[in-house]
Amino acid sequence: MIRKIKTVMRSRATSDGAGVRLKRVFSHGEVELTDPFLLLDFFGSDNPDDYIAGFPWHPHRGIETITYMLKGEVKHEDSMGNSGTIESGDCQWMTAGSGIVHQEMPGQVEGAMMGFQLWANLPSEEKMMHPRYRDIKESDIPEVITKSGARVKIICGELEGTVGPVREIVTEPEYLDVTVPPNTEFRHHVKEGHTVFAYIFEGQGFFGEDTDSVIQSDHLVIFEDGDEVVVTSADCHLRFLLISGKPIGEPIAWYGPIVMNTQEEIELAFREYRDGTFIKHK
Ligand code: FE
Repeated sequence: MIRKIKTVMRSRATSDGAGVRLKRVFSHGEVELTDPFLLLDFFGSDNPDDYIAGFPWHPHRGIETITYMLKGEVKHEDSMGNSGTIESGDCQWMTAGSGIVHQEMPGQVEGAMMGFQLWANLPSEEKMMHPRYRDIKESDIPEVITKSGARVKIICGELEGTVGPVREIVTEPEYLDVTVPPNTEFRHHVKEGHTVFAYIFEGQGFFGEDTDSVIQSDHLVIFEDGDEVVVTSADCHLRFLLISGKPIGEPIAWYGPIVMNTQEEIELAFREYRDGTFIKHK
């Protein structure tokens, strides 16, 4: 069954970290619609003043943060002793689990900086798991060209027998970067019962079988249930992230960069952060 549109929302301008200007696609208010995902930010600017202060040292617990760079770079370092640069086309899939303290500093390359950060929740039994990194270079992300001519970068998930490099994630996510030429259809099988959404960031198109109302760039489409997604571009090319995952359905206690199940767990995390006992696994 082809998934229908449940709701469409426009991303909104905000700032976070030490004053990084970004477009927030969804967050606290939408969590029942986006479970197991908590937040999606789209950051991009040609003006370094919009992001140069970056995201200085901060803790995460209970979630995964997935950073995907389209242009520019993010330099990062963390409490486990890792440091590196997420470059244009790369993805970093970070499972904070029991706790990571890190900083993330965006920078431009050839005058541009653009990327996404997605937060995925962890189920209660995995919230205190060992922290884990998957650093994926652009060259490790397969690109499939479908029969209809859509180009799909597979960060996580499967398309026409090609499997993306990020595997064994508990919420069984899919993370696809899809580019569709003008007036072209893209079809993709998705799991029934999973949350599925698309964020359009270039061009415009039709989502589901409804070809009356075109959905513009900077909009999030959240789908109803079903086992297939159908997207058709309008007269220009269309590019969107297609993301899906298995809902967790547990209570959420969320304060800043820490997401647990109860208020007590949040208070404990911040007490440990103050006392210097936050990091459980070096
Ligand atoms: Fe962070």
